[in-house]
Order: sequence, then structure tokens, then C-alpha cells
Amino acid sequence: MKILVVEDSDRLGRFLQQGLSECSYTVNWVRSCAAANDALVDTNYDAIVLDLGLPDGDGLDLLKSWRAGGFKEPVLILSARDGVQDRVKGLDLGADDYLPKPFSLEELLARVRSLVRRQSTTKQVVLEHAGIKLDLLSHTVQNNGQPVDLTSREYALLEVFMQNQGRILPRTLISEKIWASHFDVDTNLLDVYMSRLRSKLETSGKTIFKTVRGVGYQMV
Ligand code: CA
Repeated sequence: MKILVVEDSDRLGRFLQQGLSECSYTVNWVRSCAAANDALVDTNYDAIVLDLGLPDGDGLDLLKSWRAGGFKEPVLILSARDGVQDRVKGLDLGADDYLPKPFSLEELLARVRSLVRRQSTTKQVVLEHAGIKLDLLSHTVQNNGQPVDLTSREYALLEVFMQNQGRILPRTLISEKIWASHFDVDTNLLDVYMSRLRSKLETSGKTIFKTVRGVGYQMV
């Protein structure tokens, strides 16, 4: 799952980035309306965490323009403006949830899970392939009934494959989905993660991840 965090406070942005990353979300943190719009042109996100007071505008105007443009992904507003009117306005403009500052990380994570769950009513929550079960809500993985301990990046990588079973995935596409920005993408690092994932999941000697020379990988 990839989350866009729009927050101009360094302290809070870092806190959100770290907290969400530790829960296996891939996080792209931007600090302004302009950067948020750029990020959305570039990549698809599963949810957006949006601060309202931004240096180059108001998050509510940003949200309004996204919704007017047909953007449907869930948006969670984070704001120090916690009056009833502010909340109503945010929700009326198309926010899916509103969390007043200050908030606990635990609550934020619960709200994000709930957004993803609502999103998932039409999608599957547990993905299965070749004896592997990946639970999108609890972020847990089982292989032939046995729990598998994955790091958050390994989990994110596996999720990309489980969402695209049988498809040949180009390296750049995989990297783009599991790292926050193009600048972070190091394709050698992808091979390192692939070999870790293989060693944890291809335990019965069966090939699950096929290397497609010159292109990328395929879950078979
Ligand atoms: Ca702010």
C-alpha cells in the first residue's frame, strides 16, 4: 500500500513517515500543495494523509480540486482546526475521515486501516497464490499455513506480486511501487530484496518468482 503524506511540519512529517513505514506502508512525504499535485501525477496512491495549513495553500482547496477532477482515493485530513464546522467542511468536500491534531500514532494507523478496509470492500482483503496468503489488513503473511516473518519492504514487495499474479512486472514498475520516489530507486537493491523474499518463500524448492531477463520478475 502506498500512502501520500502532505504535511509541512518537519517533525510531524518525519513522525508519520516513520510510523507508517514501520507498518509496511510505502510513504511519500511532501510538504506543499504543489508537491502533492506533482506526486499524484506521477504515481497512484492507496490513501492520502492531508494536512490543511500548507505553505502554498489550503489543503481543503487541494482536496476540492482533486475531487472535482474525479480523484477517488481515500483522503484522511489531519488538522489542528478541530471545530465541528471545520470537520463538516472537510467531510463535505470529500474527505473520508478527519483526525484532529494532536493525535496518537495508534489512532492514525487504525484510521488508515479503516480507510483501506472500506476501499477493499470491492477488492479482496486476503490475497492467495501458490500456498501464500497475504492479509492486506493485518499485514501478515502465511506460507502453507505457517506464518512468515517479513520486513516491511519485503512485505511491500510481496504485495506488489500478489496484486499482479502471473504478470511480468518490469523492474522500474516494481521499484516505483515499493520505494517512495524515483530518486530512491536502486535496482540492485531490488535484486537484494528479491533474493531475501525467495529465501523466505521458496522453501519447498518450488519457483515462485521467475526472473525475466532484461525485464523484471514474474510470480508464477
Ligand atoms: Ca501545517
